[in-house]
Amino acid sequence: MPPAYYPAGADSAMKLPNFLEDPELNRLRAQMGAKDLGTFRLSVNPYRFTVSELEQLIVDGIDVRYLDEVRALPDGTLCYKDRRVLLFTRDAARAAVPGPADALPPYHFSNCAVVRDLREQASFVRHAVSAREDGQFQVNFVQGTLIKRTLTALPACPCCLIDLAFDASPGSFVVPRFFEKYRRNLAVENQEAGGDTGRFPKL
Ligand SMILES: [Zn+2]
Repeated sequence: MPPAYYPAGADSAMKLPNFLEDPELNRLRAQMGAKDLGTFRLSVNPYRFTVSELEQLIVDGIDVRYLDEVRALPDGTLCYKDRRVLLFTRDAARAAVPGPADALPPYHFSNCAVVRDLREQASFVRHAVSAREDGQFQVNFVQGTLIKRTLTALPACPCCLIDLAFDASPGSFVVPRFFEKYRRNLAVENQEAGGDTGRFPKL
């Protein structure tokens, strides 16, 4: 019996025809002189972004379950799959009366001391990665049971600025300066460096 959630008739619609019995395809195969059917393998590279993930990375950011998913590259920058990324805190508490205590945590672009500390701490705080260039991040403001996702400007992390030797203050630093110096797409960088796998080098 098909599972209850199948719409009526969907099980038959999902059946693929047997292409090995298709007379047209078999005639074509004979014309090509191809007797052996051969094999094919569909492989998915888990280190590559899909198009929708790339869009999400730019628009909303992608939530990361564990900070281990955000890796440190040898140059000190951070990557998620095959992209260099910015790391930020997804959720922020918003007090009923806004005050200085509401200062938002900065975004990171290196595996700075703060990020290394975050990796060590057991925490329920959710983090996300982003590749937006406008310094804005989709932050969930949490007030009691209310959650409001808002595009919010975050300051750059002062430790990251020092680690990567950017001569700027957290307030004046702009994200495009980072991505000018450090390319977003690591697969392209690896190919240009002579790598032939399309994946970033072993770390
Ligand atoms: Zn940092």
